[in-house]
Amino acid sequence: MLQRVTSLGGCGKIRVTGGNVVMLLNWQHGYRRCLALLSLVILLAVGFSGCTPTVQGPDLPPKGTGETPDPTPEPEPEPDPYLILVNADNPLTEDMEPSLKTVQGQFKLEEEAADALIAMIAVAKEEGISLLICSAYRPNSTQERLYKNQVQKFVGRGYSEADAAVAAASVVARPGTSEHNTGLAADIVTPSYQTLNEGFAETTAAKWMAANAHYYGFVLRYPKDKQETTGIIFEPWHFRYVGLEHAQKMQENNWCLEEYLANR
Ligand code: ZN
Repeated sequence: MLQRVTSLGGCGKIRVTGGNVVMLLNWQHGYRRCLALLSLVILLAVGFSGCTPTVQGPDLPPKGTGETPDPTPEPEPEPDPYLILVNADNPLTEDMEPSLKTVQGQFKLEEEAADALIAMIAVAKEEGISLLICSAYRPNSTQERLYKNQVQKFVGRGYSEADAAVAAASVVARPGTSEHNTGLAADIVTPSYQTLNEGFAETTAAKWMAANAHYYGFVLRYPKDKQETTGIIFEPWHFRYVGLEHAQKMQENNWCLEEYLANR
């Protein structure tokens, strides 16, 4: 006998029951139902996986790594030669020989610094201030001589050689640690007060320079309130050329060179 079979997973197969061959009458109808069931299963599968099928094959890189190339690193900016730091912790390793220009007859400074100082001296003069250079570029050999002389002075006062060496370094920079070797530093006084001591700070010339040097790219290198940072006593006569932009920022922020290099 022919028996109508609603195929459940059989999908139109022939079934043998008790020796009777049961043909599937509505084979076509069953096939459609089967397709519908398959579609439902596929829809459900897609639904459970968040609607968007994710495709991950061995050719695709894992997310978050290597998808975008690393940005090309910025090249290190060239160090600004006018910001060179010379102190006891950063001694010059070799004698510097910058291209020099003469200022006030016998003193030499690095060319750009020399032009800036010439301009500053001229403007000061117009305002009735007379500025007098008493030291500028010094080759390292001169620094060595100055330092040794200072050591001998202390030995003459009864200091041991070791103590004299330490004491001398507080007055004259050890060879290799003086800014004067860079050609960027000048000691500037005024005809009526030429002694290098704190009293110079009270002169009109010192006050004028403290207030105006930055307009010419110079800074008061060893201020009174920065002695702990610079390691050098207050020197109201020692000016250092760093360039216009840096000098103005240092002045605005009341930073000495060590602070400026650490903060800028
Ligand atoms: Zn000096």
